[in-house]
Amino acid sequence: MEKLATKIFLCGFFVVLVLLSGQVKSQEVEDETEFNYDEESETGPSRWGDLHQEWSMCKHGQMQSPIDLLNERVKIVSHLGRINRSFKPSNATLKNRGHDIMLKWADGAGSIVINGTQYVLKQLHWHSPSEHTLNGRRFNLELHMVHESPTGQAAVIGIMFKIGRPDSFLSLITDHLAAITDTAEQEKVVGIINPKQINIGSRKYYRYIGSLTTPPCTQNVVWTIVKKVRTVTREQVRLLRVAVHDESNTNARPLQPLNKRTVHLYRPDDPKEN
Ligand SMILES: [Zn+2]
Repeated sequence: MEKLATKIFLCGFFVVLVLLSGQVKSQEVEDETEFNYDEESETGPSRWGDLHQEWSMCKHGQMQSPIDLLNERVKIVSHLGRINRSFKPSNATLKNRGHDIMLKWADGAGSIVINGTQYVLKQLHWHSPSEHTLNGRRFNLELHMVHESPTGQAAVIGIMFKIGRPDSFLSLITDHLAAITDTAEQEKVVGIINPKQINIGSRKYYRYIGSLTTPPCTQNVVWTIVKKVRTVTREQVRLLRVAVHDESNTNARPLQPLNKRTVHLYRPDDPKEN
C-alpha cells in the first residue's frame, strides 16, 4: 500500500514537472551553466542546438538573433508609431544567472503595446559586448528588457551603449551589483525599481522578428532596437562583468544570418519628432 502511494506521488510529481517545463519553454533559461560563449568549447554557441532537444532552434531556426542592422538594408517606415509603454515601479530581485546579471520584477513592471498586443515587462539583463551590431559596428554593452504577452510571446527592447558618461540606471543599482559580486549568493532582493528611470527614447528604432539570444533560442520574438547608442563607463561595464561568477569575458552570441527577414527602421515623418 505504501509503495502504491509512493508511486502515485512520484507520478504526480512528474506530471507537475512536465507541466512546469512546458510553461517555461518560451522563456530564457535561468540556469546558464549548461552552455557557454566559448566557441572552442563543447558547449559553445555553435553547439547550443545539439545540447538539448528543446534547444534545437539554436541550430535549425531561420529567424535567429542577434543580427547586424545594416542601414542600406533597412526599410524606413513612419507608421509603426512611438514605443507605446506604461512602466511602473515594482519590487525587483537581482540574480546572477551564470553568464549574466538579471534584474527581475516579481509581478511585472508595467507593459508595452505592439500591434495591439500587451507585453508585460518581466526582467532585464545585459550583454557585453553588444550582441546586435549597427553597420557592422559592435558596441560595449547591450541592455535587453524582456516583455511577455499573455500567450507567452516575447518582445525585447534592446539598447546599445558605448564608453562615455555613466548610465544613470546602472548608477542607481551600483551598490546592489557590488553586493552580489562580493558574496556567493546568487540572488538579492533590491526593493522597488522603476523602469521609467531607464533612458529609452522612442523616436527612432529598428524592428524585426527574431529569437531569444540564449537557449532555447525561441523564435517569433518581436525585437525593438533603439537607434540612439547611449553611454556607459568602462567601470560600469566591468562591474557587470565581475558580478557574473564565470571565467568568460563575454556573453554575446555571434551574429546570425538574416535570411529572408525585413528589418524596419521607424522614423517619424513629423520633423518636430526628430
Ligand atoms: Zn539578452
